[in-house]
Amino acid sequence: MNDLSIATHSLTRTYGALTALKDVTLSVDPGSVYALVGPNGAGKTTLIQLLMNLQPASAGTAEVLGVPMGEIRGAALNRIGYVSESQELPEWMTVGELLDYLRPFYPTWDRELEQQLLRDFALPRERKLKQLSRGMRMKAAFAGALSFRPALLVLDEPFSGLDPLVRDELIQGLLDRIGETTLFLSSHDLAEIESFASHVGYLEEGSLLFSEEMTTLSNRFRQIEFQVDPASAPPPKLPDAWMEFERSGSLVRFTHSAFVSEAEARAEIATLFPTAGVADFAPMSLRSIFLANARTHRTLRGRLESGGKA
Ligand code: ATP
Repeated sequence: MNDLSIATHSLTRTYGALTALKDVTLSVDPGSVYALVGPNGAGKTTLIQLLMNLQPASAGTAEVLGVPMGEIRGAALNRIGYVSESQELPEWMTVGELLDYLRPFYPTWDRELEQQLLRDFALPRERKLKQLSRGMRMKAAFAGALSFRPALLVLDEPFSGLDPLVRDELIQGLLDRIGETTLFLSSHDLAEIESFASHVGYLEEGSLLFSEEMTTLSNRFRQIEFQVDPASAPPPKLPDAWMEFERSGSLVRFTHSAFVSEAEARAEIATLFPTAGVADFAPMSLRSIFLANARTHRTLRGRLESGGKA
Protein backbone atom coordinates (compact mmCIF):
# COMPACT_ATOMS: atom_id res chain seq x y z
CA MET A 1 0.00 0.00 0.00
CA ASN A 2 2.87 2.34 0.76
CA ASP A 3 4.03 1.86 -2.82
CA LEU A 4 1.11 3.96 -3.99
CA SER A 5 1.95 7.53 -5.00
CA ILE A 6 -1.29 8.81 -3.47
CA ALA A 7 -3.85 7.03 -1.30
CA THR A 8 -6.86 8.74 0.26
CA HIS A 9 -9.25 7.14 2.72
CA SER A 10 -12.73 8.64 3.13
CA LEU A 11 -11.33 12.13 2.76
CA THR A 12 -13.90 14.76 3.66
CA ARG A 13 -13.78 18.56 3.78
CA THR A 14 -16.61 20.74 4.94
CA TYR A 15 -16.90 24.52 4.92
CA GLY A 16 -19.66 25.26 7.39
CA ALA A 17 -22.79 23.58 6.03
CA LEU A 18 -21.17 22.85 2.64
CA THR A 19 -19.50 19.50 2.05
CA ALA A 20 -16.87 20.26 -0.59
CA LEU A 21 -15.39 16.75 -0.48
CA LYS A 22 -17.25 13.69 0.70
CA ASP A 23 -15.69 10.35 1.66
CA VAL A 24 -13.21 10.34 -1.19
CA THR A 25 -11.19 7.14 -1.39
CA LEU A 26 -8.80 6.79 -4.30
CA SER A 27 -5.35 5.49 -5.10
CA VAL A 28 -2.77 6.54 -7.65
CA ASP A 29 -0.20 4.03 -8.89
CA PRO A 30 3.40 5.09 -9.39
CA GLY A 31 4.14 6.04 -13.00
CA SER A 32 0.52 6.73 -13.84
CA VAL A 33 -1.02 9.92 -15.19
CA TYR A 34 -4.14 10.44 -13.09
CA ALA A 35 -6.58 13.10 -14.23
CA LEU A 36 -9.17 14.47 -11.85
CA VAL A 37 -12.16 15.83 -13.74
CA GLY A 38 -15.55 17.18 -12.71
CA PRO A 39 -17.78 20.22 -13.12
CA ASN A 40 -16.97 23.61 -11.57
CA GLY A 41 -17.19 23.41 -7.80
CA ALA A 42 -16.90 19.59 -7.74
CA GLY A 43 -14.06 19.68 -5.19
CA LYS A 44 -10.95 19.15 -7.36
CA THR A 45 -8.93 22.05 -5.96
CA THR A 46 -10.06 21.20 -2.44
CA LEU A 47 -8.78 17.62 -2.84
CA ILE A 48 -5.45 18.81 -4.24
CA GLN A 49 -5.03 21.37 -1.46
CA LEU A 50 -5.68 18.72 1.20
CA LEU A 51 -3.08 16.44 -0.41
CA MET A 52 -0.57 19.29 -0.49
CA ASN A 53 -1.31 20.08 3.19
CA LEU A 54 -2.48 23.56 2.23
CA GLN A 55 -5.63 23.08 4.26
CA PRO A 56 -6.75 20.46 6.80
CA ALA A 57 -9.24 17.64 6.19
CA SER A 58 -12.46 17.57 8.21
CA ALA A 59 -12.31 13.76 8.28
CA GLY A 60 -10.40 10.93 6.64
CA THR A 61 -6.73 10.48 5.91
CA ALA A 62 -4.33 10.36 2.96
CA GLU A 63 -0.72 9.51 2.22
CA VAL A 64 1.32 11.18 -0.47
CA LEU A 65 4.43 9.21 -1.46
CA GLY A 66 3.83 7.27 1.75
CA VAL A 67 3.86 10.41 3.94
CA PRO A 68 0.67 11.29 5.88
CA MET A 69 -0.74 14.42 4.24
CA GLY A 70 -0.51 16.46 7.46
CA GLU A 71 3.27 15.95 7.38
CA ILE A 72 3.73 17.21 3.81
CA ARG A 73 6.15 20.07 4.42
CA GLY A 74 9.88 20.73 4.41
CA ALA A 75 11.92 17.76 3.16
CA ALA A 76 8.78 15.83 2.17
CA LEU A 77 8.28 18.46 -0.55
CA ASN A 78 11.68 17.66 -2.11
CA ARG A 79 10.07 14.89 -4.13
CA ILE A 80 6.79 16.62 -4.98
CA GLY A 81 6.31 19.24 -7.67
CA TYR A 82 3.16 21.37 -7.34
CA VAL A 83 1.86 23.88 -9.84
CA SER A 84 -1.52 25.52 -9.59
CA GLU A 85 -3.33 27.90 -11.89
CA SER A 86 -3.76 30.37 -9.06
CA GLN A 87 -0.22 30.01 -7.73
CA GLU A 88 1.52 33.26 -6.91
CA LEU A 89 5.06 33.65 -8.18
CA PRO A 90 7.59 36.18 -6.86
CA GLU A 91 6.83 38.64 -9.66
CA TRP A 92 9.88 40.81 -9.00
CA MET A 93 12.28 37.97 -9.85
CA THR A 94 13.56 37.09 -13.30
CA VAL A 95 13.05 33.55 -14.61
CA GLY A 96 16.71 32.84 -13.85
CA GLU A 97 16.44 34.25 -10.33
CA LEU A 98 13.39 32.10 -9.63
CA LEU A 99 15.29 28.97 -10.64
CA ASP A 100 18.39 30.09 -8.69
CA TYR A 101 16.16 30.59 -5.67
CA LEU A 102 14.46 27.19 -5.95
CA ARG A 103 17.54 25.10 -6.80
CA PRO A 104 19.14 24.85 -3.30
CA PHE A 105 15.91 23.42 -1.82
CA TYR A 106 16.12 20.31 -4.00
CA PRO A 107 19.04 17.86 -3.71
CA THR A 108 17.94 16.18 -6.95
CA TRP A 109 17.90 19.41 -9.01
CA ASP A 110 19.21 18.69 -12.53
CA ARG A 111 20.86 21.77 -14.08
CA GLU A 112 21.02 20.21 -17.53
CA LEU A 113 17.32 19.48 -17.42
CA GLU A 114 16.68 23.04 -16.19
CA GLN A 115 18.52 24.43 -19.22
CA GLN A 116 16.78 22.06 -21.57
CA LEU A 117 13.39 23.09 -20.19
CA LEU A 118 14.23 26.78 -20.64
CA ARG A 119 15.14 26.03 -24.26
CA ASP A 120 12.10 23.80 -24.91
CA PHE A 121 9.76 26.37 -23.38
CA ALA A 122 11.57 29.29 -25.07
CA LEU A 123 11.83 31.04 -21.68
CA PRO A 124 14.09 34.09 -21.47
CA ARG A 125 16.21 33.71 -18.29
CA GLU A 126 16.64 37.49 -17.89
CA ARG A 127 12.96 38.42 -18.18
CA LYS A 128 11.11 39.46 -15.01
CA LEU A 129 8.18 37.19 -14.11
CA LYS A 130 5.82 40.19 -13.96
CA GLN A 131 6.65 40.92 -17.62
CA LEU A 132 5.71 37.42 -18.73
CA SER A 133 2.41 36.45 -20.30
CA ARG A 134 0.17 34.01 -18.42
CA GLY A 135 1.37 31.10 -20.57
CA MET A 136 5.04 31.98 -20.10
CA ARG A 137 4.54 32.31 -16.33
CA MET A 138 2.99 28.85 -16.31
CA LYS A 139 5.97 27.54 -18.28
CA ALA A 140 8.33 29.12 -15.73
CA ALA A 141 6.40 27.41 -12.90
CA PHE A 142 6.63 24.11 -14.82
CA ALA A 143 10.38 24.54 -15.31
CA GLY A 144 10.75 25.05 -11.54
CA ALA A 145 8.63 21.99 -10.77
CA LEU A 146 10.20 19.65 -13.32
CA SER A 147 13.90 20.52 -12.92
CA PHE A 148 14.29 18.50 -9.72
CA ARG A 149 12.79 15.38 -11.32
CA PRO A 150 10.00 15.03 -8.74
CA ALA A 151 8.67 11.56 -7.99
CA LEU A 152 5.19 13.12 -8.03
CA LEU A 153 3.93 16.15 -9.90
CA VAL A 154 0.61 17.64 -8.77
CA LEU A 155 -0.99 20.14 -11.14
CA ASP A 156 -4.18 22.08 -10.49
CA GLU A 157 -5.71 23.29 -13.77
CA PRO A 158 -2.35 23.59 -15.52
CA PHE A 159 -3.68 24.38 -19.00
CA SER A 160 -6.52 26.76 -18.21
CA GLY A 161 -6.49 29.88 -20.35
CA LEU A 162 -3.42 28.83 -22.34
CA ASP A 163 -3.23 28.82 -26.13
CA PRO A 164 -3.00 25.46 -27.94
CA LEU A 165 0.70 25.88 -28.69
CA VAL A 166 1.63 26.46 -25.04
CA ARG A 167 -0.61 23.56 -24.00
CA ASP A 168 1.20 21.30 -26.43
CA GLU A 169 4.59 22.47 -25.15
CA LEU A 170 3.59 21.84 -21.54
CA ILE A 171 2.09 18.46 -22.36
CA GLN A 172 5.25 17.50 -24.25
CA GLY A 173 7.29 18.58 -21.20
CA LEU A 174 5.11 16.27 -19.10
CA LEU A 175 5.19 13.39 -21.56
CA ASP A 176 8.99 13.50 -21.50
CA ARG A 177 8.87 12.85 -17.73
CA ILE A 178 6.25 10.08 -17.74
CA GLY A 179 7.63 6.94 -16.18
CA GLU A 180 10.00 8.69 -13.75
CA THR A 181 7.26 11.00 -12.46
CA THR A 182 3.73 10.18 -11.37
CA LEU A 183 1.35 12.84 -12.54
CA PHE A 184 -1.82 13.88 -10.68
CA LEU A 185 -3.69 16.74 -12.29
CA SER A 186 -7.07 18.41 -12.34
CA SER A 187 -8.31 19.79 -15.61
CA HIS A 188 -11.30 20.80 -17.71
CA ASP A 189 -9.32 20.26 -20.92
CA LEU A 190 -10.81 16.89 -21.70
CA ALA A 191 -9.37 16.44 -25.19
CA GLU A 192 -5.86 17.00 -23.82
CA ILE A 193 -6.53 14.74 -20.83
CA GLU A 194 -7.81 11.99 -23.10
CA SER A 195 -4.63 12.14 -25.16
CA PHE A 196 -2.28 11.36 -22.30
CA ALA A 197 -3.98 10.33 -19.02
CA SER A 198 -3.80 6.67 -17.98
CA HIS A 199 -6.43 7.03 -15.22
CA VAL A 200 -9.45 9.27 -14.65
CA GLY A 201 -11.30 10.18 -11.48
CA TYR A 202 -14.65 11.94 -11.78
CA LEU A 203 -15.79 14.19 -8.93
CA GLU A 204 -19.32 15.51 -8.69
CA GLU A 205 -20.46 17.64 -5.75
CA GLY A 206 -17.62 16.35 -3.63
CA SER A 207 -18.20 12.65 -4.31
CA LEU A 208 -15.90 10.52 -6.42
CA LEU A 209 -18.31 8.85 -8.83
CA PHE A 210 -15.65 6.76 -10.55
CA SER A 211 -11.91 6.29 -10.56
CA GLU A 212 -10.50 3.92 -13.16
CA GLU A 213 -8.16 3.35 -16.07
CA MET A 214 -8.92 5.43 -19.14
CA THR A 215 -9.19 2.28 -21.29
CA THR A 216 -11.69 0.66 -18.87
CA LEU A 217 -13.72 3.85 -18.90
CA SER A 218 -13.84 4.14 -22.68
CA ASN A 219 -14.62 0.43 -23.01
CA ARG A 220 -17.66 0.61 -20.72
CA PHE A 221 -19.31 3.66 -22.31
CA ARG A 222 -21.21 3.49 -25.60
CA GLN A 223 -23.73 5.77 -27.28
CA ILE A 224 -26.41 3.37 -28.51
CA GLU A 225 -29.17 4.00 -31.07
CA PHE A 226 -31.84 1.77 -32.57
CA GLN A 227 -35.32 1.90 -34.07
CA VAL A 228 -38.45 0.42 -32.51
CA ASP A 229 -42.06 0.07 -33.55
CA PRO A 230 -43.41 3.46 -32.40
CA ALA A 231 -46.61 1.77 -31.20
CA SER A 232 -44.74 -0.66 -28.94
CA ALA A 233 -45.18 -0.31 -25.18
CA PRO A 234 -42.22 1.07 -23.16
CA PRO A 235 -40.50 -1.37 -20.79
CA PRO A 236 -41.63 -1.05 -17.14
CA LYS A 237 -38.13 -0.16 -15.93
CA LEU A 238 -34.86 0.71 -17.62
CA PRO A 239 -31.49 -0.60 -16.36
CA ASP A 240 -29.67 1.78 -14.00
CA ALA A 241 -26.64 1.73 -16.31
CA TRP A 242 -28.63 3.32 -19.14
CA MET A 243 -28.08 7.07 -18.99
CA GLU A 244 -29.82 9.89 -20.85
CA PHE A 245 -32.47 7.59 -22.30
CA GLU A 246 -34.54 9.24 -25.05
CA ARG A 247 -37.32 7.87 -27.18
CA SER A 248 -38.69 9.97 -29.96
CA GLY A 249 -41.10 8.29 -32.40
CA SER A 250 -39.32 5.17 -33.56
CA LEU A 251 -35.82 6.31 -32.51
CA VAL A 252 -34.35 5.18 -29.19
CA ARG A 253 -31.06 6.57 -27.96
CA PHE A 254 -29.13 6.24 -24.69
CA THR A 255 -25.67 6.08 -23.16
CA HIS A 256 -24.67 2.69 -21.81
CA SER A 257 -22.36 3.07 -18.81
CA ALA A 258 -21.77 -0.64 -18.24
CA PHE A 259 -21.24 -1.82 -21.80
CA VAL A 260 -19.41 -5.15 -22.06
CA SER A 261 -19.94 -6.34 -25.63
CA GLU A 262 -22.27 -5.70 -28.55
CA ALA A 263 -23.69 -9.22 -28.19
CA GLU A 264 -24.54 -8.66 -24.52
CA ALA A 265 -26.03 -5.21 -25.16
CA ARG A 266 -28.09 -6.58 -28.10
CA ALA A 267 -29.54 -9.29 -25.85
CA GLU A 268 -30.35 -6.69 -23.15
CA ILE A 269 -32.06 -4.46 -25.73
CA ALA A 270 -34.02 -7.37 -27.23
CA THR A 271 -35.41 -8.30 -23.80
CA LEU A 272 -36.66 -4.77 -23.12
CA PHE A 273 -37.56 -3.80 -26.71
CA PRO A 274 -38.70 -6.90 -28.62
CA THR A 275 -39.36 -4.78 -31.74
CA ALA A 276 -35.83 -3.24 -31.79
CA GLY A 277 -34.03 -3.12 -35.12
CA VAL A 278 -30.28 -3.18 -35.70
CA ALA A 279 -28.47 -1.13 -33.04
CA ASP A 280 -25.57 1.23 -33.57
CA PHE A 281 -22.85 1.23 -30.89
CA ALA A 282 -20.64 4.32 -30.98
CA PRO A 283 -17.55 4.68 -28.78
CA MET A 284 -17.51 7.94 -26.81
CA SER A 285 -14.89 10.61 -26.23
CA LEU A 286 -13.98 11.57 -22.67
CA ARG A 287 -15.85 14.83 -23.30
CA SER A 288 -19.08 12.97 -24.21
CA ILE A 289 -18.67 10.66 -21.21
CA PHE A 290 -18.16 13.69 -18.97
CA LEU A 291 -21.26 15.41 -20.37
CA ALA A 292 -23.43 12.30 -19.99
CA ASN A 293 -22.41 11.97 -16.33
CA ALA A 294 -22.73 15.66 -15.54
CA ARG A 295 -26.19 15.93 -17.18
CA THR A 296 -27.43 12.74 -15.52
CA HIS A 297 -26.30 13.97 -12.14
CA ARG A 298 -27.95 17.33 -12.70
CA THR A 299 -31.24 15.65 -13.69
CA LEU A 300 -31.15 13.34 -10.65
CA ARG A 301 -30.45 16.28 -8.37
CA GLY A 302 -33.32 18.22 -9.95
CA ARG A 303 -35.64 15.27 -9.26
CA LEU A 304 -34.48 15.01 -5.67
CA GLU A 305 -34.93 18.73 -5.12
CA SER A 306 -38.44 18.65 -6.53
CA GLY A 307 -39.35 15.73 -4.28
CA GLY A 308 -39.02 13.04 -6.97
CA LYS A 309 -41.71 14.51 -9.22
CA ALA A 310 -39.63 15.91 -12.12
P1 ATP B 1 -13.43 24.54 -10.45
O1 ATP B 1 -13.50 23.51 -11.52
O2 ATP B 1 -14.45 25.61 -10.64
O3 ATP B 1 -12.04 25.04 -10.16
P2 ATP B 1 -13.29 22.71 -8.17
O4 ATP B 1 -13.76 21.35 -8.59
O5 ATP B 1 -11.82 22.91 -8.06
O6 ATP B 1 -13.96 23.81 -9.10
P3 ATP B 1 -13.37 23.59 -5.43
O7 ATP B 1 -12.65 24.87 -5.67
O8 ATP B 1 -12.61 22.51 -4.75
O9 ATP B 1 -13.99 23.01 -6.78
O10 ATP B 1 -14.67 23.93 -4.59
C1 ATP B 1 -15.53 22.92 -4.10
C2 ATP B 1 -16.65 23.58 -3.32
O11 ATP B 1 -16.14 24.12 -2.12
C3 ATP B 1 -17.33 24.73 -4.05
O12 ATP B 1 -18.70 24.70 -3.75
C4 ATP B 1 -16.68 25.96 -3.45
O13 ATP B 1 -17.54 27.07 -3.50
C5 ATP B 1 -16.44 25.51 -2.02
N1 ATP B 1 -15.27 26.16 -1.41
C6 ATP B 1 -13.99 26.07 -1.82
N2 ATP B 1 -13.18 26.76 -1.01
C7 ATP B 1 -13.96 27.31 -0.05
C8 ATP B 1 -13.72 28.15 1.09
N3 ATP B 1 -12.50 28.54 1.42
N4 ATP B 1 -14.79 28.50 1.85
C9 ATP B 1 -16.03 28.08 1.54
N5 ATP B 1 -16.32 27.30 0.48
C10 ATP B 1 -15.31 26.91 -0.30
